[in-house]
Amino acid sequence: MNNLTKLQKIDLDNIWHPCSQMKDYESFPPIVLKSGKGAYLIDENDKKYLDAVSSWWVNIFGHSNQKINDALYNQANTLEHAIFANFSHKPAIELSRSILEVVPNGLSKIFFGDNGSSAVEIALKLSFQYHQQIGKTTKTRFVALTNAYHGETIGALSVSGCELYNKIYKPLLLDIFRPTGPDCYRCPYGKCRDNCDAECFEHMEKLLSEKHNEISGVIVEPLVQCAAGMMIYSPVYLKKLRAACDKYDVHLIADEIAVGFGRTGKMFACEHANITPDIMCVSKGLTAGYMPLSLAIMTDTIYDAFYDDYDTMKAFLHSHSYSGNPLGCAIAVETLKMFKNENTIENNIAKSEFIKEQITEKLLDIPYVGEFRQIGMIGAIELVMDKETKEPFDSKKRVGYEIYKIALSKGVLLRPLGNIVYFMPPYIVNEDDITFMIDVAKESIIEYLKRENIM
Ligand code: PMP
Repeated sequence: MNNLTKLQKIDLDNIWHPCSQMKDYESFPPIVLKSGKGAYLIDENDKKYLDAVSSWWVNIFGHSNQKINDALYNQANTLEHAIFANFSHKPAIELSRSILEVVPNGLSKIFFGDNGSSAVEIALKLSFQYHQQIGKTTKTRFVALTNAYHGETIGALSVSGCELYNKIYKPLLLDIFRPTGPDCYRCPYGKCRDNCDAECFEHMEKLLSEKHNEISGVIVEPLVQCAAGMMIYSPVYLKKLRAACDKYDVHLIADEIAVGFGRTGKMFACEHANITPDIMCVSKGLTAGYMPLSLAIMTDTIYDAFYDDYDTMKAFLHSHSYSGNPLGCAIAVETLKMFKNENTIENNIAKSEFIKEQITEKLLDIPYVGEFRQIGMIGAIELVMDKETKEPFDSKKRVGYEIYKIALSKGVLLRPLGNIVYFMPPYIVNEDDITFMIDVAKESIIEYLKRENIM
């Protein structure tokens, strides 16, 4: 490989990057970042990249945000970390109060994890152990949807439905139920997500009615299956799911890890359906993209089933070294303060409207755009070979990856998911940033299509 900088060379000698075929780095080496400011990342050659994917959906108030930097600095100078069993500290306590103010009514107890996948593992274990402890010992299995994504650890990967990530590990994974979930672009009922009655819920209904005695919980990504390609579905589905979980005595676990903290236009996606899950998992935006921290937030009913004398052995003996990390908690407290003081959710309305206008004006006349879907600060277009039949591009063409490389050369970090080009910028983007982001997306898609001689 020629022309590598010294840092790139050391990186490639030593580092295995996530979600990457490392051989790809031979022709496309890692971009070594020097700094970040606002919506931009800056590399070692001073080239700027607009972070249109909020660095894997975590960043909400921009890189190197002064208020969050201060919160982090102050906390680091006070207490950086301490064991969380039998000990507590102000940042965790403050966080417990401010998060419980904003989560759906009825969620009242918080367990701390240190990343999204660990929150999912915690939720699954809590649900399972709950049913064991209340005597419903046949309820040992979980339900998750087709196209779901819930993380990479073995339990979280078991409930994930994206074969790209979990197929090879099948022999290791939990045996779960996977009813067909919503697929609104290719709706088999010929309906539209904006006004359907979530007819596709019939698969879940049937499964729950037949197997509820075996089922501990259903886990879903409320409203948007993000990793599957920003697949947005109707809140009616969630309403029906809440009712069915109540009817069949099954936990509803809402994985708000990607969609929480304002992404869908409300603080939590569950609010669109006006439902309260039994357990809610949050991470990512919780710390505005600064520190790994996650929470599983649950009802008193669940908590109470673990509360007893020690020798009943009902305790939840789950721990992570970094449980309740004070740096993460202090940042989360500051993040929630900023949501309140800066009217973030309200201010995002105009921004998401502008994203919609820009996409509509600039991308929808590209002949290979099959669908434009948007909710709040998530916008996506799905590229297809044929708009009539909705035939996807062959995954071997790596359309998204090719567009990604072109867009990076033009200064925008878009990271399409397969054939889906999506926009999920930090909330601090302004109209100029959004215009630039959509212009570069357009140029990159067209450049790719021309290169392939199909436009
Ligand atoms: N659930 C959802 C919905 C996610 O999008 C993700 C991460 N993309 C996870 C869980 C896993 O989170 P983490 O990568 O922090 O383990």
